[in-house]
Amino acid sequence: MSRMTMTIFLPKKYLILIGVLLLHLVVAVLAKDYWIAYRQEQKVLATGANVILDPGHGGVDPGALSGDVKEKDIVLDVVLRMNEYLTEHGYSVVLTRDQDVDLGGELTRGRHKRDLNARLEVINRGQVAVSIHCNTIGDSTQKGAVVFYQKGSEAGKRLAASLLAELNRVQLLNDNRPLPIENLFLLRTSRIPTVIVELGFLSNQEDKTKLQEAGFRQQLAEALSRGIINYLEGGQES
Ligand SMILES: [Zn+2]
Repeated sequence: MSRMTMTIFLPKKYLILIGVLLLHLVVAVLAKDYWIAYRQEQKVLATGANVILDPGHGGVDPGALSGDVKEKDIVLDVVLRMNEYLTEHGYSVVLTRDQDVDLGGELTRGRHKRDLNARLEVINRGQVAVSIHCNTIGDSTQKGAVVFYQKGSEAGKRLAASLLAELNRVQLLNDNRPLPIENLFLLRTSRIPTVIVELGFLSNQEDKTKLQEAGFRQQLAEALSRGIINYLEGGQES
């Protein structure tokens, strides 16, 4: 009987010891990862506003099409110009993509969802995010810019209004109010003030012609950047 107890007792003691050691190891690894992430975040926040810019689509996903004009190319060009403007003005900027790629990985089922999740992951590292798109619609008379925000988000609404005020100086507005959306994945799941800007309609000849001009894209980029800066400098209390 006492022999039995000894044989059971000893391994159990060692098991507890090994368990405790493993637990320490896991805690140490987690703490290290957390610490690195924390330090990186501090570094980014210390350098400026940390604006996340998301040029919609890319790679296999061209977005809206009109002849050989692709939404993915126009929005990337505008975002690269915004990146330059904001960086020159002392703001730190992170892009979800800086070339003609999508973020969905291989071409298998669920690519679109993986693409959006990857964008969301980047967006949630910032203080504000602006996703840039171009519209297309059956009615070719529709033209001008539109800005969407998450319904119920006061900060999102203010960011959208700030962008519209500056856009209004360079581009016709399809609607001069920020438009609330209830169920759009990126806006609904983002943890920071996030808006979607539709620069214009590729289905409208006037917008399409303007969007193909580098000078106009530069004007759009500067207007949007000023809108972001005005929002950030105006305080973000809510
Ligand atoms: Zn789009």
